[in-house]
Amino acid sequence: MGERKVLNKYYPPDFDPAKLPRGKRPDHNSMKVRMMLPMSVQCKTCGTFMYKGTKFNMKKEDAQNETYLGIQIFRFYWRCSACAAEITMKTDPQNGDYNMELGATRNYEPWREKEQVTALNKAQREEEERGNAMKALENRTLDSKREMDIMTALDELQSLSARHSHVTPDQALAAIKRSGGVPEDEALAVEDEELIRQMLAQGRSKRLEDDADDDRAVSASGPGRPSGRSTGGAGPATAAEQNAADDPVLDVGTDGLIFSVKL
Ligand SMILES: [Zn+2]
Repeated sequence: MGERKVLNKYYPPDFDPAKLPRGKRPDHNSMKVRMMLPMSVQCKTCGTFMYKGTKFNMKKEDAQNETYLGIQIFRFYWRCSACAAEITMKTDPQNGDYNMELGATRNYEPWREKEQVTALNKAQREEEERGNAMKALENRTLDSKREMDIMTALDELQSLSARHSHVTPDQALAAIKRSGGVPEDEALAVEDEELIRQMLAQGRSKRLEDDADDDRAVSASGPGRPSGRSTGGAGPATAAEQNAADDPVLDVGTDGLIFSVKL
């Protein structure tokens, strides 16, 4: 087993590679290749679509007497996956692409048409500007004018965007106020008043309903009852302070509800 996988490539000193027997190349230099379709095609015989990237065993050969600037053009043969009809295509070195030759049609590709139109326009322009300095100047002037128009439109959009992005909430509220919205302080004051009234009403009803004994205890200590509660104008904090000083029976919670305390 010692002779397995040995790199025994001994070349004698008189080795001449020119004397090696040459294998005969097939006609048109053809060979079998495994290749993906470079574009989607439809078989002309049965209408089957074969999509870009489908792998086929193709036969590749040199297209006879067809070159582009000295680059050999190759032809590929393969068979339709459904009906086995022969389909051929050729390389297109001019556009770095492939051309369908027989048996199938290439699917419509909108970007190719766009590129073709662009290339055509460019070629036309070069043609009309050749030897015509006035035309070239005119085209350049039109180009710069178009560019300036685009830049102006872009500037306008950017400044508009910047103006809108710098508005703070305070500025927005001020703008609403200026435009005749509800006066802020007054609306807040009304809202607060309503909230306090609700809270006090809840507290009073709860105290009366929950515990009759506590209610009697509160009534007995009459003079010490905080006056702020009856008017509703004073805040809960004020009521609580007064309670703590005058009335040992009552305790007003921080949330405005009145709880009874048994001593
Ligand atoms: Zn077919």
